[in-house]
Amino acid sequence: MAVLGLVLYTIVISRMNRQTNVIFGGVDGAYVSSDSVSFADPNVQETPEPTVDIWPDIDITLDIYSVVNEDNLLSSAFEPDVSRIEITRYMYFRTDHIDKLNAMLADMIEAGFSPYVAGAYRTYSYQNQMFNTKASQIAYEQGLSEDYNDPEYQLAVEQAKKITAVPGSSEHQLGLAVDLLDKQRQKMVYGDMDPAFFAWLDEHCWEYGFIKRYPTKKLLLTGWDEPWHYRYVGKEAAKFIMEQGICLEEFYAHYVPDFEY
Ligand SMILES: [Zn+2]
Repeated sequence: MAVLGLVLYTIVISRMNRQTNVIFGGVDGAYVSSDSVSFADPNVQETPEPTVDIWPDIDITLDIYSVVNEDNLLSSAFEPDVSRIEITRYMYFRTDHIDKLNAMLADMIEAGFSPYVAGAYRTYSYQNQMFNTKASQIAYEQGLSEDYNDPEYQLAVEQAKKITAVPGSSEHQLGLAVDLLDKQRQKMVYGDMDPAFFAWLDEHCWEYGFIKRYPTKKLLLTGWDEPWHYRYVGKEAAKFIMEQGICLEEFYAHYVPDFEY
């Protein structure tokens, strides 16, 4: 009986941990746990495939559709041609599609918002540096060994993976992703964000070929919950993805059936 009790206790505790372990991340300095989302959230679910074949007729091998994550890494040698985003001093985006991003930001300003580009293109080595900084910060905060060869340091590395993408797994390296925040409200915490700012983006981003890449309801499929992260996939795919409420993984898997996510 005592053993059964212990087993049940362990299950309950591990479930509780799963529910409170939701961490918003992906951008340097973002280290926010929240109880606003949990793995028990009924909104976290797969969207059923449309029954009628209304999927866009596209060439899925184009790199604007690339899914980049821990299972699909970019090589350290991948360096796209990028240009400076108009409203920024040193933020860069893929040259071949930057006109759409510039237009979207200009129209946001026109609509009365003050967009701030908190993140855009990142090189592999910068992502590497960000990741290592996050891991050593966690090791320091938790009093773990900061020696990379010490197994204890790997505990910090595992935790860092939940907050900052490991090098090669960030689609910021693709040059097709931006993190957008309101200039006046830059804290990456749900309660502090301007809902109207993101409502505008969620309604209009597809018109410029962008999708909300990591919506809360797709956390279990993408691994990330980042309302500020928008990704260029071209207008056709963006319209479909936003209208159907699917994520890029679900979209990609329709064309590449053996793709696992
Ligand atoms: Zn991002």
